[in-house]
Amino acid sequence: MSGEGILRGGPLIHAPLEFRLRSGGALSKDSALITCPKCEAPCFIRRSTRVTATVKHLHAHCTNTGCGHTFMSEIVFVHSFNPGLIHRPDLDLPQCPAEQIPHVLPPSRDGPDDDSQISMFASA
Ligand SMILES: [Zn+2]
Repeated sequence: MSGEGILRGGPLIHAPLEFRLRSGGALSKDSALITCPKCEAPCFIRRSTRVTATVKHLHAHCTNTGCGHTFMSEIVFVHSFNPGLIHRPDLDLPQCPAEQIPHVLPPSRDGPDDDSQISMFASA
């Protein structure tokens, strides 16, 4: 009996190194909250510090072992789309210009019907 043909060189399994930073096991890719400015790999956020009501500092660590960049990024409030129900004139939050407010409209009735979708707007 010979083992020839059974034993082969090379790795038994191929398991490329992947970083899954999002819940559900999805790859973060471009949707990562912070990407490394040097190599564009997704970054872990080690800690965050609330500086003011509208500014937060994030201590980030690049997941690329060939890079290893650690740095601080900043999240800054830009503007409100809808001011909400709480009155806080002390914060002096700017309002988004009307022409820049994103509009999310119901699907067009003229579009092709998709029976796999449940419509909230369909008449019975
Ligand atoms: Zn990097």
